[in-house]
Amino acid sequence: MVEELDPFKIAQQQLDEAASIMNLDKQALALLREPMQTVIVNFPAKMRDGKTRTFRGFRVLYNNARGPGKGGIRYHPEETIETVKALSAWMTWKCSLANIQYGGSKGGVICDTKKLNETELENISRAYIRAISKFIGPEVDVPAPDVYTTPQMMAWMMDEFSRIKEHNVFGVITGKPLEVWGSEGRNDSTALGGLYILREAAKMKKIDLKKAKVAIQGFGNAGHFAFSIASEMFGCKIVAISDSQGGVYDEKGLDLKKLDEAKEKTGSVQGYKGGKKVSNEELLELNVDILIPAAIENQIHGGNAARIKPKILLELANGPVTPEADKILSANGVLDLPDFLVNSGGVIGSYFEWIQNQQGYYWTREEFDKKLDVIVTKSFKDVMATQKEYAEKGKKINPRMAAYIIAVGRVASAMKTRGWY
Ligand code: NAD
Repeated sequence: MVEELDPFKIAQQQLDEAASIMNLDKQALALLREPMQTVIVNFPAKMRDGKTRTFRGFRVLYNNARGPGKGGIRYHPEETIETVKALSAWMTWKCSLANIQYGGSKGGVICDTKKLNETELENISRAYIRAISKFIGPEVDVPAPDVYTTPQMMAWMMDEFSRIKEHNVFGVITGKPLEVWGSEGRNDSTALGGLYILREAAKMKKIDLKKAKVAIQGFGNAGHFAFSIASEMFGCKIVAISDSQGGVYDEKGLDLKKLDEAKEKTGSVQGYKGGKKVSNEELLELNVDILIPAAIENQIHGGNAARIKPKILLELANGPVTPEADKILSANGVLDLPDFLVNSGGVIGSYFEWIQNQQGYYWTREEFDKKLDVIVTKSFKDVMATQKEYAEKGKKINPRMAAYIIAVGRVASAMKTRGWY
């Protein structure tokens, strides 16, 4: 049988499994299996030759029982409504697990940013916001950057929305540059949140992080910050890292400065002087204590999961482990910490930015990090406690399912209390 990789079907399968374990009310499940609102827009944007081109964009509000929608905007040539729906579902569970006052949503525009210049990107960003302006707002649905969208684009989008409303609405979008009231700390909050969770997991498994060998897949925002924080803050030895072209391995540990130089000079971490080259597949199967997938989805699947045996698998990327691999990893005793727990620091950082925008009062970097630590540490402990609680009832579940049960349970309770079922 070919493994199911349609992201929205995977999201539904995971929800169905959680619903069955927790005996979720049928009406609650019916409400939660589909997004509440799916918006598809066709809009014109002016190109460099002075002519307009038509673009297609999406904004999906999955659920708002616990607060406004929250989720990024992706610019991708192969963006589909199914991907956006799946990501909006996962945002709902992520915000609920973090216990922050948000529902879940996601957006996207089908376009190839590599073929567009700055003016075209600005025109598309503004035109997309005009097309979806009725469906977003600080109390309605709050977008943020995601794949191939940047803080500058968020600034243009906030500006366009403010023009429509005829006053400044900084809190309509997060991930903005600091000049227009972005937040200190937001940039690396995904990796930092993930590593606070790693600290807790290592404590639980009695792993000394100073002696731990770590491999990271991906050298972008998430992977790069994961490297610097893991090595500088927790003293881990990073023995392997990769980008889309492949990776490099050195059992003595890699040097971040030299990796940056290699990337700058040769376009890839494979240009690193020292160590040996490894493919992305080989990197995942290295004998390490901690493996951090921080690149793209479906990297650990039915075909390779049996050979992947770190003590802790920290899913910093979204969806790096397929449902089939999930089962294999659990059977092999790998502590696989799920994406919507591990990378929740990103949306928590966005939440902090939004709170500060709403109040017009700004925190220090130290306050930001401390509050982030409190939230993710609590989420991790909630997940472990739920796993234990089910084990005591004779139901063996993995951390992903425990996280689902908490997140879905909270959204269902909010819907119930509001009288939705
Ligand atoms: P990015 O675009 O900055 O970096 C992605 C990295 O992955 C790059 O180094 C790229 O070379 C590498 N890559 C691409 N294809 C690859 C392949 N086939 N094999 C190995 N590496 C490959 O993206 P990012 O912001 O670092 O996001 C990485 C992951 O983390 C994504 O799944 C994203 O959804 C998730 N995430 C990021 C944030 C955030 O705040 N940046 C928040 C939540 C989740």
